[in-house]
Parts: sequence; C-alpha cells; structure tokens
Amino acid sequence: MSRAYNFSAGPAMLPEPVLRRAMDEMLDWHGSGMCVAEMSHRGKEFMSIAEQAEADLRELLAIPDGYKVLFLQGGASTQFAMVPLNLMGRGEGADYIKTGSWSKKAIAEAKRFGAVRIAATTEEDRFTRAPAQDELALDAGSAYVHYTPNETIEGVEFPYIPDVGERPLVADMSSTLLSRPIDVARYGIIYAGAQKNIGPAGLTIVIVREDLIGAATEQTPTMLDYRTHAESGSMYNTPPTYAWYLAGLVFQWLKDLGGLSAMATINERKAAALYAAIDASDFYANPVEPGSRSWMNVPFTLADPELDAKFLAEAKAEGLLTLKGHRSVGGMRASIYNAMPEEAVQALIAFMQEFERRNG
Ligand code: PMP
Repeated sequence: MSRAYNFSAGPAMLPEPVLRRAMDEMLDWHGSGMCVAEMSHRGKEFMSIAEQAEADLRELLAIPDGYKVLFLQGGASTQFAMVPLNLMGRGEGADYIKTGSWSKKAIAEAKRFGAVRIAATTEEDRFTRAPAQDELALDAGSAYVHYTPNETIEGVEFPYIPDVGERPLVADMSSTLLSRPIDVARYGIIYAGAQKNIGPAGLTIVIVREDLIGAATEQTPTMLDYRTHAESGSMYNTPPTYAWYLAGLVFQWLKDLGGLSAMATINERKAAALYAAIDASDFYANPVEPGSRSWMNVPFTLADPELDAKFLAEAKAEGLLTLKGHRSVGGMRASIYNAMPEEAVQALIAFMQEFERRNG
C-alpha cells in the first residue's frame, strides 16, 4: 500500500495515525460490538465519544466559558445563511470584509436577509492582500462584522484579528481553524467546515458566544436557529456521528503532537519553505503580498501556462496529487493543512525544482 500526498483544498488528507486508529476500531469500538457509524447518537457509547471530542476541542483552542460548541451539518455554506438569520436582528445591517471568493459567497447569501455593507475590499488588487485595520470602515449600528481569515482559493490570510469594537466579530475559519492557537474571546462566532483541518466532510463546527444565541428572526427554520442546537447539545436531530468521531480522533492526534502551538510551528515551517522555493525561482510565482500569505493554501503559477498540464501529470506520477488551482484563478495550488507531512512539502519542492530544471 502506498499513500499519496494529496494537496487538495478539501476534503484533504487526514493524519495517518487517525486513519489507522479508525481502522482498528472499525468493526468493534471499545468492546461495544459496533462500528461508531452504527451507534445510536443518544446511546452511552456515542455520548462519551461526543463529549470527549468537545472537551478536547475546548482544551486545544482554550475556549473560554460562555461559548457553545456546536457540531452541525450543512457545511460552511449553510453558515453563510445561519449567521444573518441569527444575528441580523441585533442591529441595522451588517459589515462584511470582502477579500476573495469565499467572502463574496458569504456576502451574496447575507444580502438575502438584510442590508450588507462592504467594510473593506481588496478586489481592485485582485484579492492579493488582506486590508489593513485602518482601511476598515465599520458602521456604528452594525449587527456584526463578518470576515474570512483565510481565503482558501486566493491563498490570502489576515495577519491580525480585526478590531471591531463592541460589534460581534464573525469568522469563516474553514481553512484555518486548528492551524494555530487563536484568541477565541475576540470572536462572537467562529465557524468551519471540517474537511480541511478538522476531519471528514459532513461536519461543521460552530463556536458561538452564548449571548448571541436566541435572537433569530421568527421565520428562521428550526434547524437554522443556533438555539435549537445549543439547547440540545447538537442532538436535536441525528448529528453527523461518524464525522464527529473522526474529528475527535484528530483532536487527540493534535493533543499528542503538543497542541496548537506545536502545530503552528510545523505549519509555519512548511509554508515558509514552499514560499521560499517559489520566490527563489523565476519560473514559479505567487501573487500574494508577503504579509498576507496563507500558511494553508499556496497558489502559484508557472511562467508558461502551456506547461500546466505536463506539471500536473508528472506531479501525479510522483504521488503529488490535486495540485491544480481553483478553476476561477487557474495555475496551481498546494494546500498544506495540518495533516500534510513536512516531508511531503519537501518532496513537492524537490519536484518543482527538478521540473524547472527540465522545462525552465
Ligand atoms: N468558506 C471557506 C473559506 C472555504 O474554504 C469553503 C470550502 N472550500 C467554504 C466556505 C465552503 O464550505 P462547505 O463546502 O463546507 O460549505
């Protein structure tokens, strides 16, 4: 058996020890005689798995008291609607920071539910940087401020947490949550689809400050009201049990590794090595301002786009998969989430240098 290095933006690689443990536990979880996928979500076995996963996530992120952690379905895309449905009523419209493809989607959805103001945009720079704090024009009456700390497609990351005063700060952390420690207390809501750093697709994590729960508009569907899930421990209906369990194994893997500070050190090293290789070459280029470069998603172009298909085919033959950039921006993109080993990044760099030598 040989495992490839999969540079997909998500679903992405899972840590091998997690997959091995899931394999060991597949037919009979801890003497229960059941696979986790076969368990009642209300049975004591799954309840213990669910509680352990939440406790481990709280420990990893040092989530303060006063926040609920929800394990939901629907992906980050459902949060694009849930956030305005639950928060819009708190003020006069909301402020959104527009930094790339995913914040644009969040904005388009929020417009269905209320007034959306663009507090800042970097569109005129083709989304190659995060705006500075002093570029943010925030409205006094805003119900909340929404931003995307890491734009998965453009590979642009905020190097700071926006200061939004008393307004709740809402963050789509789909492609950055668990990549490093964060100060949860600075946020009203953090949400993330699981399929990058957390676990398999099908699970969405929402961390929500308790005072923001319970003000959904009257027409809000039950399943889209944070209160429904907060009051039921994410068990109002059948939660994504197996994905929740696998995420729990990922949390344990992160704890064994030394937690998020240790993970951050490794992630920073991986990204720095890859950007250094790109910057050292005239053959490869990354368009993002150095101060806004993502640790997780590294887009790059080849000097001659005619070579793209050859690059991808030869990379694949070397076991370096899914390096094609998003169809909206073209070129290449290497997503190097938590589970991407350092040696994989080194293997990619070696391949890129060799490819340049033969084609440059
Ligand atoms: N936001 C960001 C930043 C993302 O990267 C993605 C997925 N690539 C989404 C939202 C959409 O997530 P989902 O597919 O879970 O709805």
